[in-house]
Amino acid sequence: MQLIIKRLLLLVFIALNLSSSLASAQGKLSAEPPHWWVGMAHEQVELLVYSNDVPYPLGEFNVSLSADRVKIENVITLDNPHYIILNLFIFPDASSQTIEITFSHASGETLSMPYTLSARAPGSADRAGFTAKDVIYLIAPDRFANGDTTNDNNETMLEKVDRNYKGGRHGGDIQGMIDHLDYISQMGFTQVWTMPLLENDMQKYSYHGYSTTDFFEIDPRFGSNALYREFVEIAQSNGIGVIKDVILNHMGSNHPWMKDMPSSDWINHGTTFKGTTHTRESLHDPHSVQADIDEFAKGWFVPTMPDMNQQHPHLAQYLIQYAIWWIEYAGLSGLRVDTYSYSDKQFLSNWTQALIREYPNLTIVGEEWSVNPAITAYWQADSPRYDDYVSSLPSVMDFPLQVALSQALLEEDTWATGIRKIYDTLASDFLYGDPYKLVVFGDNHDMNRIMPQMNNDESLFMMAMKFLLTTRGIPQIFYGTEIGMSDQGDGDHGILRADFPGGWPGDVVNGFTGAELSEREKRIQKQLKFLLNWRKNTPAITDGKLTHYFPKDGIYVYFRHHEQQRIMVVLNKNKSKQSLDLARFKEMLPLEQPSIELVNIENNSRFTISQDLSIPAQSVMIFEVK
Ligand code: CA
Repeated sequence: MQLIIKRLLLLVFIALNLSSSLASAQGKLSAEPPHWWVGMAHEQVELLVYSNDVPYPLGEFNVSLSADRVKIENVITLDNPHYIILNLFIFPDASSQTIEITFSHASGETLSMPYTLSARAPGSADRAGFTAKDVIYLIAPDRFANGDTTNDNNETMLEKVDRNYKGGRHGGDIQGMIDHLDYISQMGFTQVWTMPLLENDMQKYSYHGYSTTDFFEIDPRFGSNALYREFVEIAQSNGIGVIKDVILNHMGSNHPWMKDMPSSDWINHGTTFKGTTHTRESLHDPHSVQADIDEFAKGWFVPTMPDMNQQHPHLAQYLIQYAIWWIEYAGLSGLRVDTYSYSDKQFLSNWTQALIREYPNLTIVGEEWSVNPAITAYWQADSPRYDDYVSSLPSVMDFPLQVALSQALLEEDTWATGIRKIYDTLASDFLYGDPYKLVVFGDNHDMNRIMPQMNNDESLFMMAMKFLLTTRGIPQIFYGTEIGMSDQGDGDHGILRADFPGGWPGDVVNGFTGAELSEREKRIQKQLKFLLNWRKNTPAITDGKLTHYFPKDGIYVYFRHHEQQRIMVVLNKNKSKQSLDLARFKEMLPLEQPSIELVNIENNSRFTISQDLSIPAQSVMIFEVK
């Protein structure tokens, strides 16, 4: 009996010792991505393994694996001994499992790291991206709604909440977006693009999220990885896809890499700030020199955003896997890529190809802030090019059309200025692989809102919005624009990203419920809600071709048409009512059938095509040809 008790005690002692030594060993090693999946198109995953708590360089350890249908392809050392790269080959028939990776050193030191390979969600590879059937709602999460005041401050994060400071954190979060998904859905939006939500542990301006300090963790002041995934699930059950804002070009200067860099060439210019010239033109300029290209692509965006060197093959692979990880983990419908062309050009080719290979129908839209369509078009897949560059990028942001729209509505009409700016820009669509996949917008989080762009004139504002919702492409609307939110027009980011009314406990004005909104705000919201929901069920807009006529006398006419439906849009910029002779539009209107009518989609008023059309001053009228 005594012997049995002794043996039992010994077993307990061994078990306790084993578990404590394993636990400490596990705590010493970390890997990114933190877990992965079986059954991916890419059969390999490259782990960036890190430890600063081991007395020997990680490269001195012998790495072995206890796993079923998974093998170590190779182990690569970096010039920092705290890191190694571990390539796992996952056989196509491997099952989901947690594998045990063992690191053994000649000294006898042994470390163990579990690593989980999960099963994929059904249909994951074939997920649908966003298309012209969608309208995207762009949200600045810190400024939209504070659904959880308990997370406003986090003791481990540097910046604390300060709603009185325009550049500070105001407390908005993922829960706030979850709480208002019904509003977003009822308004008629079918996609949400959120500004970045990953950890941004910066001293200031952390609210905007573009200074990543952890590529695999949601910032605790926004919520958690699990809550983000829940947000996507609930959004999908409301018919809304979620687009993640991805930054490949830079990270935050407080990212742990800046203190312990995997490799000396991980960041361009090391730890010293050297700014980019922002001259994206140098990439395409036939008279360019390499030094100019390097100054653009390798310079830092700002001093707090070190520029990542995507020419480093393992950083490149890290950024491919980071994007795939979030798509797969959270169930995303697409990505918006920040500062697209600032990353290495060949890397962007490889990155887009890798993502499209994994998700053939995923939509990725690149931000290339150029007003020259020759430059924006260069990055889209299938665009005709002057060189043999390969891009698999499905979409780009249509910055040329954004500025053209603003100029078109504000400038005096002459032969060369005013409304024809829209025409001229759309006439350049031959430059694009697919102009119908471009994301079109009047404003975003980096520029004055469309309302102040239009001098706070409601008529001009509504003309801009109606144009955006009926021209070719995928419309994107900045949160608050649906109630005509304005700003000071000086481009101050903290101001144009103002808090959405009703998003904070105690708000008197409430854009979600309509309480205390002005008559003008209610009118704008009601009109946009109607147009967004009308657009959803209007195949001529979501699937149809665009045909337009050169603007004459301040009037721009275009048609959206496909087999079952024809929509005519008339934009009258004149400050007086106009009468329009329809004879000019005989290619698009069946003028030989005088009983055909133009039905105004907003009020059902009808006009026969045999008579001249009367168009109110400064307005856009939308007709279905019936
Ligand atoms: Ca909060």
